[in-house]
Amino acid sequence: MNTLIKNTCIVTMNEDRDIFYEYALYIEGERIFEIGPTKVMENKYVNNTRVIDGTGKIVFPGLINTHNHLFQVLLKGLGDDMVLKDWLEFMTFPSTPYLTEENCYFAALNGLMEGIHSGVTTTFDYMYPHASGYKNTDEGIIKAMQKLGVRGFLGRGWVDAGIEAGVYPAMIEQIDDIEKAVRDLHNKYHNIENGRIKIALAPAAVWSNSGDSLKMLKRLSDELDLLVSLHVSETPFDREAVHNLHGKDEIDLLIELGLLNEKLIMVHCVCLTDYDISKIKEYGATVSHNPVSNMYLSSGVAPIPRLNREGICVGLGLDGAASNNSNDMIELLKMTALLQKVHHRNPTIMTADKVLEMATIEGAKALMLDEEIGSLEIGKKADLFIFNPKKDLKAIPMHNPVSTLVYSCGNKNVETVMVDGDIIMEDGIVTKIDEEFVADNCQRLADELSVKAGTDKLKKRPWKRI
Ligand SMILES: [Zn+2]
Repeated sequence: MNTLIKNTCIVTMNEDRDIFYEYALYIEGERIFEIGPTKVMENKYVNNTRVIDGTGKIVFPGLINTHNHLFQVLLKGLGDDMVLKDWLEFMTFPSTPYLTEENCYFAALNGLMEGIHSGVTTTFDYMYPHASGYKNTDEGIIKAMQKLGVRGFLGRGWVDAGIEAGVYPAMIEQIDDIEKAVRDLHNKYHNIENGRIKIALAPAAVWSNSGDSLKMLKRLSDELDLLVSLHVSETPFDREAVHNLHGKDEIDLLIELGLLNEKLIMVHCVCLTDYDISKIKEYGATVSHNPVSNMYLSSGVAPIPRLNREGICVGLGLDGAASNNSNDMIELLKMTALLQKVHHRNPTIMTADKVLEMATIEGAKALMLDEEIGSLEIGKKADLFIFNPKKDLKAIPMHNPVSTLVYSCGNKNVETVMVDGDIIMEDGIVTKIDEEFVADNCQRLADELSVKAGTDKLKKRPWKRI
């Protein structure tokens, strides 16, 4: 089906950052075929074309979420107001051995649909728990991505060390088993669904992997040409734990192993030294910034303005719903700007424009997909959302569309979402599955999981007075 969106404003995020008014965008199949003034376009494309009147609306490129743990949707709200050690020990780790394919499927459906409602079209999921054997948890995530028609990466996570530093023993896997699992996933799912689904490598962190595991990571990344993502320097603890396990600083180890390169997405990067930053820049690795999670867990403030000035590619990430506690990308946009402004006591240090760059074209570059997505340009995939300011008064009046998107709108303003030219949400309704069905199942599975994991006691916790 071809589509013409006419009489609209198009925020392109192209090289010149053009914003066109009274324009039209014609999509042929999965790709953007032409962008031009409505007057020229509307008589040209009439046959076999679905016409969407975009009067008073804005077309944005789909937002790109470079970091998530979708299974954590089931844990949402159980780990509030805890220090990280307790959050892991009492809530996250005990839940992981009981995860099933069905758990992960409905958690991912719920989380991805929250994302769609906030304009997300691409998600990099970092699926790390594979405790108690291999129970098709990765498949649960992939099937949810397939069902909803979104673009997504399944980053297969693993740990094979780090018990001394707090890794949950039941999560430890043997290197041969990990390699087999990665190869199986790659054979079955890499580049399926017209290339929308891809497999990536996501060992949890350098401090939870042995040298042999990291060498295997490098070998698989080279052989299968897969992206790599690692949690890096989230807190001072990470730096210390890396040193304790490997006897050297993380950045030097990554260089030594050949892992610091443009295929590496470094998640968090809150505690970087000048030396780290110079090496990230030199080797072309990219950064996933997760400000809501960093605030929720009190990890700190990543030096994003500095990374931006150095020309290092930074994308945005929601992180898992157990440390966010949602998959709301619109909320994240505002937080991204406000966090840096207050931290630096400087309102000019982070602009709405820069935030949108990180959420679109920079995120696409981090995922090495900027030839295909991240901006609305002829030849690129039609991954986009239509924003209607009138659907939520928060967005009225609108003077500048980028300002409104970042600072003063809500999910109700995201009206229609398209991936690969296919409408996956129309007039606020996800088209591929019944939302109430997903909500019912997600709640049921979360309740059952909390009983099995013993985390149900956290639901009726004592009032926390300060
Ligand atoms: Zn994470």
